[in-house]
Amino acid sequence: MATLKHYINGRWETGVTLGTRENPSDLSDTVAEFARADTAQTESAIRAAADARDEWALSTPQRRFDVLDAIGSEILARKEELGRLLAREEGKTLVEGIGETARAGQIFKFFAGEALRIPGEKLASVRPGVEVEVTREPVGVVGLIAPWNFPLAIPAWKIAPALAYGNAVVFKPAELVPACASALADIISRSGLPAGVFNLVMGSGRQVGQALVDSPLVDAISFTGSVGVGQGILKAATARQARVQLEMGGKNPLVVLHDADIAQAVDCAIQGAFFSTGQRCTASSRIIVTPGIFDRFVGALRERTQALVVDNALKRGTEIGPVVSQAQLEQNLAYVESGRHEGAELLVGGQRVKRDTEGYFMSPALFIAEPEHRIAREEIFGPVACVIRARDSEHALSLANDTPFGLCAGVCTTSLKHAAHFKRHLRAGMVMVNLPTAGVDFHVPFGGRKGSSYGPREQGRYAAEFYTTVKTAYINA
Ligand code: NAD
Repeated sequence: MATLKHYINGRWETGVTLGTRENPSDLSDTVAEFARADTAQTESAIRAAADARDEWALSTPQRRFDVLDAIGSEILARKEELGRLLAREEGKTLVEGIGETARAGQIFKFFAGEALRIPGEKLASVRPGVEVEVTREPVGVVGLIAPWNFPLAIPAWKIAPALAYGNAVVFKPAELVPACASALADIISRSGLPAGVFNLVMGSGRQVGQALVDSPLVDAISFTGSVGVGQGILKAATARQARVQLEMGGKNPLVVLHDADIAQAVDCAIQGAFFSTGQRCTASSRIIVTPGIFDRFVGALRERTQALVVDNALKRGTEIGPVVSQAQLEQNLAYVESGRHEGAELLVGGQRVKRDTEGYFMSPALFIAEPEHRIAREEIFGPVACVIRARDSEHALSLANDTPFGLCAGVCTTSLKHAAHFKRHLRAGMVMVNLPTAGVDFHVPFGGRKGSSYGPREQGRYAAEFYTTVKTAYINA
């Protein structure tokens, strides 16, 4: 097996140390051996980006379009193969892996188009004979720090706008997904970018990530990951006045009102809570249900949860793949234990299960919990969901908003009046009506409120807010 290398200044470089990644569905299958960088090697990638930034900042929209379009086309053409690699490395099912890969390709295509439409304004001045122009320029060198749970889509939604708006990039993937990062870097390396404009550096958050956050040559940091790490990055980066964008955790509510279509509501809950093994920042982990539908809904949800097929991510028919790692599995099981200990009622699942291959398999856990239980308040990031009883729809709304997070929130109802009321009053960056909380489009803004996010939104044309800086020019013609 060839060791995966960093991509720095247009060359593939070996690392300072090595890491390995096993398939979470089959621990006997090594997916990758990969290079890990230290601070000094990361700094060399940052210098390469700083040296390349001016050339790319001055590149034409046509050139940027061609690069991004080529990357998107190759990803889409190879979506089956890359989707399989993703499923093998991260553990989501093959169908989900191919879907995520296609989405990554579409994101590059979308931002190829955006490179042709970089907005600006021309206004009359308040002074006679003077004209005012407002234009957007690249920020400079951007450090992109990604988590493991969407190993192609999240890097795509950071790298594509960064390049479209003319920035130079140093990309640091999570250590659990080096093969996906390397496959993406390989495609980008053949897209016609000047050397140094895109760099991949693999390794630990403490060394590679921290070096990006601390470097005075890095003008902006876009981070997706956990709340604790995000808060540390915010402190360090803003102390040196770098621009920061954080996308962090969630504890997303799905409210099921008495008038909901029960089959649709169960579908939303199953998909939102358990698909992708519950490892989504937008997962529905609090399912808040009003009387009148409670018993019927919970009975149907329990039955569907119990019937979910948990197995090897690459196997046909698997609905729920493995948990990503031993540490995450242990954390999930500890939360199940804490739920029981606090008196929540475990309806089904919550156990480690054995399959033909040795992997991190766990049966999806469904609890009836009280709003103050830890499992109902803290992000678990696994297949563990709580049903919470509400007194009525207003109580359901206040329970939904009673969280330090505010990424996504959903409501299932057949009433236009309730849908409009919840859409207006749910305090979240994204609201879903009769849809799962997880699963979003690639061409519109993504992000949350409160503890979930900080800084401008990602994705869609709103990405320009983070990846460009505004210049106001006055011309006395
Ligand atoms: P994590 O915070 O452990 O790691 C995220 C990235 O930060 C990794 O690349 C890691 O190496 C790096 N990192 C770690 N310490 C660092 C440091 N001190 N300085 C700089 N970088 C550092 O998160 P994870 O376990 O990879 O991902 C799971 C988390 O991500 C969950 O909390 C989930 O909610 C969140 N997430 C959020 C979104 C969103 O858009 N809101 C999307 C996906 C995942």
